[in-house]
Amino acid sequence: MDMNYLVQRRINARKKYRRKVAITIALSVLLLILIIVGLIKVIMDEKKEKNAEDTIPGVTATVSPEASDNVPDNNIVTGNNESSFVNGGGETAENEPVPTAVPAVNTTAIPTATPSPTSVPKTVIALDAGHGGEDLGSTRQGLYEKDANLAIALFLEKELEEAGYAVFMVRDGDFYVENEERPVLASQNGASLYVSIHLNSIEGDNDATQGAEVWYADMRDDGSEALAQYIADELTKVVDTRNRGIKLSNKLTVLRHSDVPACLVECGFITSETERAKLFDPEYQKKVAEGICNGIQKFLPLE
Ligand SMILES: [Zn+2]
Repeated sequence: MDMNYLVQRRINARKKYRRKVAITIALSVLLLILIIVGLIKVIMDEKKEKNAEDTIPGVTATVSPEASDNVPDNNIVTGNNESSFVNGGGETAENEPVPTAVPAVNTTAIPTATPSPTSVPKTVIALDAGHGGEDLGSTRQGLYEKDANLAIALFLEKELEEAGYAVFMVRDGDFYVENEERPVLASQNGASLYVSIHLNSIEGDNDATQGAEVWYADMRDDGSEALAQYIADELTKVVDTRNRGIKLSNKLTVLRHSDVPACLVECGFITSETERAKLFDPEYQKKVAEGICNGIQKFLPLE
């Protein structure tokens, strides 16, 4: 009996306490709403009458103590009306949090929401501009293979993107990446295809030795040969140079380590004076890129 009475009393006390808390929350929220409405009205009035500057300090002075009284109350009593608490807090510290808090929420929420429906996964092509950094590639007359490779790769990146592919650049600047690492990076970045860009060279100089050729490996039956063939054919359709055809090698590091169809394009000979002049000319580089892009599109067409 006694115990029941005590329990009943405790329950009643708890109920009473909860009611009290609920009323406090409700009143605090109401007060906050009133303050916010008041603030909005003041801001509106301020916009209407530009000379109302005197009234604002007065208002903020009366608002902030009240609001700061409410904020700790809400904080202690409950965490479930956090949203109104955040708003209230924002309104309270009028000068700083309002501009930062409001746009921060909007700018992060809206842009991420809009691209997500359009971000259908694209087919990724990995472009490997051969050499780079201290590895110059072959050189003639102060011209470095690494520079032409990068220039062509950058043009090709643009072509492919315009055609609707995504592009992963193994290097997009003058730095060196280990050859073993290049195809690994490509795979890690979701590449479906791997194309390495190089210039050819021979011992000594011979202007007559010119033309493009495309290398592939056949350790995996993944279509690399067909890819090489498409690129060799399309490249020499767009660019006025000899088609030296496709060549098989399982010794080229970047091709050996690729786990997607891969080929290495020797765009022309740096050792030919005539072809060298073309290979370092942006107009010609753009044409080479166009040709390689056409080959890639033939091998891996987009819907
Ligand atoms: Zn090279």
